[in-house]
Amino acid sequence: MSIVRALKCRECGQEYPIEPTHVCEFCFGPLEVVYDYDKLQGKLTRELIASRPQTMWRYKELLPVDGDPTVGAQNGFTPLVRARNLEKALGVSELYIKNDSVCYPTLSFKDRVVSVALSKAVEFGFTTVACASTGNLAGSVAANAAAAGLASYVFIPHDLEQGKILGAGIFGTKIIGIKGAYDDVNRLCSEVAGKYGWAFVNVNVRPFYAEGSKSLGYEMMEQLGWRAPKQVVVPMASGSLCTKIDKSIKEFVKLGLIEDAGTRMFGAQATGCSPISRSVKEQTDLIHPVKADTIAKSLAIGNPADGFYANRVIRDSGGWAEDVSDAEVVAAMKLLAETEGIFTETAGGVTLGVTKKLIAQGKLNRDESIVVCVTGNGLKTQEAVLEAITPPRIIEANLKDFDQLAAADGVA
Ligand SMILES: *Cc1c(COP(=O)(O)O)cnc(C)c1O
Ligand SMILES: [Zn+2]
Repeated sequence: MSIVRALKCRECGQEYPIEPTHVCEFCFGPLEVVYDYDKLQGKLTRELIASRPQTMWRYKELLPVDGDPTVGAQNGFTPLVRARNLEKALGVSELYIKNDSVCYPTLSFKDRVVSVALSKAVEFGFTTVACASTGNLAGSVAANAAAAGLASYVFIPHDLEQGKILGAGIFGTKIIGIKGAYDDVNRLCSEVAGKYGWAFVNVNVRPFYAEGSKSLGYEMMEQLGWRAPKQVVVPMASGSLCTKIDKSIKEFVKLGLIEDAGTRMFGAQATGCSPISRSVKEQTDLIHPVKADTIAKSLAIGNPADGFYANRVIRDSGGWAEDVSDAEVVAAMKLLAETEGIFTETAGGVTLGVTKKLIAQGKLNRDESIVVCVTGNGLKTQEAVLEAITPPRIIEANLKDFDQLAAADGVA
């Protein structure tokens, strides 16, 4: 049973029926899905949720799809890893990695938003789906559309990593590379969405798409043993994920599923594209668009649609935001790999790099629980670390050669 009430303008509060639309006709504010939580009081229990299959759809009452999901029914429910080695390395007492680098089926958290957006698109009657992507979204739309028998078009900046292009193209989608940055892609897609009758997951069905991110937060709380962490560190591109994790926590508190822990939200960006973290650090709510220049391409949105709301969530929660250089991104990718055996993409390097920085600054409390959201897989951004690894030492296939090498290593 869906408890969706309406679409509501985040600025003026005007409500709209559930339709493929995303801006307010009166004030051009963004629309958000709102729910009748009263209908669920006492009905959605921990026991009921725990009895369901381990996918993001175990929280389906809180996702904006009327029937059962028709796309991505197996997506989500990624591991929450207690990172004991990383705790030692960073000098903190309780740290977890929410590991969406292994999200099903395309190895990023975008599989969450896409399965909601495409399931809703099917309910609306669309047969072609599309997106403007920084990389991971393209792969996820392509894969989930293929599995659901939907046609797809994905629009990306032309100079993305090989792994992101391959990771979309393999699914037989129509990929359009745009000569320009993500913000140019996005602008074009708004025009295409207005003209062609397609469901653009992050344009005309964006309010539904964005709700899918809440599932990461629900899982995190359930996996912590039905509690919210004191601190969460989230990578930010448009800023949407950050706002939706915050929303997921508030919903669980409202429904009596957890106690309010006064969770503080922390945002992470790359210095080469840091309009949101900059606004937080300057303690203003004005977001100045930038021209992105960073290896963290999946986060390279210079004019972030939800930047203002992410800023507000972070500051209202008592959290903070930071950004790190490309060198710090690579160092953090290596740190996570070497301590926890998790190979994340550049966005994960941003999040862990910022976590490290915020701990050093004392903004993250070392003695309180921290969840670090790792949102994408390192195999898709291999270019970033090619030169950071030790290449294999090549020897002949004989024991004598290996003995020499072992002696040099001091293990003989
Ligand atoms: C898209 C993306 C994000 C951030 O998404 P927003 O909700 O737009 O802030 C974070 N990490 C990865 C790997 C992504 O692909
Ligand atoms: Zn409005």
